[in-house]
This record gives sequence, C-alpha cells and structure tokens, in this order.
Amino acid sequence: MLDKEKIRKYAKQIGADLCGFASMDRFASAPKEQDPRYIFPDAKTCIVLAFRIPRGYFRGIEEGTYFANYTAMGYAGINEVYGPIVLRELCCYIEDEGWEAVPVPNISFRNNAPAGVDLRKTSPKPKTLSVADDRPAPDILIDMRAAAFAAGLGEFGWSKVFLTPEFGPMQRFVALLTDFECEPDPIFEGKICDRCMSCARMCTGHAISTTESDHLCIAGHDIEYAKVDLNACGNAYRGGIPEYNPFDVNAEGLGSNWATSQAGFGLELYMRHNHALEGARGCMRECFIHLEKKGVLTHKFQNQFRKRKPWVIDRSGREDEATAAKPSDDKTLY
Ligand code: SF4
Repeated sequence: MLDKEKIRKYAKQIGADLCGFASMDRFASAPKEQDPRYIFPDAKTCIVLAFRIPRGYFRGIEEGTYFANYTAMGYAGINEVYGPIVLRELCCYIEDEGWEAVPVPNISFRNNAPAGVDLRKTSPKPKTLSVADDRPAPDILIDMRAAAFAAGLGEFGWSKVFLTPEFGPMQRFVALLTDFECEPDPIFEGKICDRCMSCARMCTGHAISTTESDHLCIAGHDIEYAKVDLNACGNAYRGGIPEYNPFDVNAEGLGSNWATSQAGFGLELYMRHNHALEGARGCMRECFIHLEKKGVLTHKFQNQFRKRKPWVIDRSGREDEATAAKPSDDKTLY
C-alpha cells in the first residue's frame, strides 16, 4: 500500500534531492491565480520536489570564463528537462497505486508571448481568458517558493530566494498534486537567513532593498522578505550591466540588441531562458558563500566555493581587445 515515506524514498531514488508534503488547506491564502486547488480541485496533497543546482554549475561564472552552465544546466536543464522527467516517473509511480497525480513543472504557458512579440517590450504579460466565471484564467502559476514552504522544505531568505538547510539558495522546485491523502510534513521552524544582507550588497542590479520588505501569509505563517525590484533584477541578471557582461563588447547594456547580435544567440532563446550572465551574484552565490562560511548547510564540500576576489570588468581602454576577440577564421577548426 502507498504511504508518504515510500513516495519520498522513490522520489529521491529517481533524482529528486528533497521531497516534502503539504496538505491543500495550506494554500488557503494563495491568490486564485496561484492556487493549485484550481488545477486539481480533488487534490488532497501537494508534493514538492527540490533539485539542487550543483555548486559547480556556477564555477565558470564565478571565474568569469564559462557562462553556459548556469543558464543551460542550472536553469533550463532543471526546469524543462530534468524536473519534468522525474515528475513523470513519480506520477506513474503514484498512478500505479490507483491515485491520480498531476505534475506541475516549473513551466507555464502564461509567460509565453505570442509569436513575434518581444517580451522585453511587453508589460504587463499577455492575458488569457478564464473558461468560466468561477475559475481563474489559465495557466495557474504556482508560487514554487510558497509551495516549498508549505511542504516544510525551508524558508524564504531576505533575498526572496528560498533557502533549504541542505543547499541554501541553490535549488529549483517542481510540484505534484494528488488525491492520495497523507499527514503533511511540519512547517520548517529553523532559521537559516540571518539578515546578513550580503545578497543585497552584492546584487549587481541593486534590486534587493535592505530596508523595505514585502509579506506573504502561508499556512498561517507571516513571511517577510525584501522588496525586490524585478525590473532591475531582470536587467542585471540578463546581462544589462556592462561591467558584469563580457559578451556585451560595445558596453551598450540590455537596451541594445546585443543578445540577438552576439555569438549567434537568437531572439527565441533570448525570450525563453535568457543568458543568466549575472550568475545570481548576490541572491545565490553570495548567500551560499555566507551560509557555507557559517557552516550552517548540511550538504558539505571539502573546499569553500569562493577562491578569488569577485571579478568586475574594467572597460577603460578595452575596446580594441574586444574588437580583436572575434571567432577565428581558421577553417581547419571546423
Ligand atoms: S545573503 Fe544573508 S540576508 Fe540574504 S538571503 Fe542569504 S542569509 Fe539572508
């Protein structure tokens, strides 16, 4: 017979790093358009899986020499490939026991713009129509951090990034809704974030306030985190600040079309998983470095992550070098 610990064990066996269980009443204060109960009204349990972002995915950005990993493997690879594969296996495992299992990957069509629409110029996001008056418009977009909190996996950091005792800020989440009922996991009562403000200090977009906060109520708990300027975050994260974007050879920032003109990067890719060139310097890397130094994370490494002073591009007198750094025309390479 199916039980919670069997599901947890299987989820980890097939690739999840963490697995938590929330009862559906813990979403009672969610806004309609983020409430998973509208996806599966008969669901009794929301299972949340965490996939760690291996520390090594950040190494190339930390050194300033290899930027592909975090975007490709740490972002799209987990959200669009690895997470859905593990979710499917878990759905089948639960459905083989006669319970329905609805996967909720960290993907939503709501954020997709119609063909030809440039997301950079589209605000607010394209709207959708509700199919009936009593339902929110599709797609419901579960707040994965709220779901992770409801499933007892950790807490919100001041940065608004979710922190777990195992991996700090370095993981991504997916959810699964099922009519299988079990005792929910207890809400996390520990303390990981100590309000050190390293995230805010080192955010290259200055997107994280040190003084102003926002609040969220989940399962009767009041949660406070920094007010985050999402435009500033998005701009810096995608390489809009020339001092942190070695691909922007002309120092034109996000306002230019550098993303479509450099190195053959197409608009389609740009619109989906933008180049995470900033490498989450404050909210992920600096937070992780701080928590690692404090020794509070249960997942340990032999060596500390930060090896050298964080880089910043000094562009004075570098134009000639940037121009010279064109792909080789030596055809023997191809
Ligand atoms: S860097 Fe410090 S303040 Fe920011 S989320 Fe991490 S622990 Fe909290």
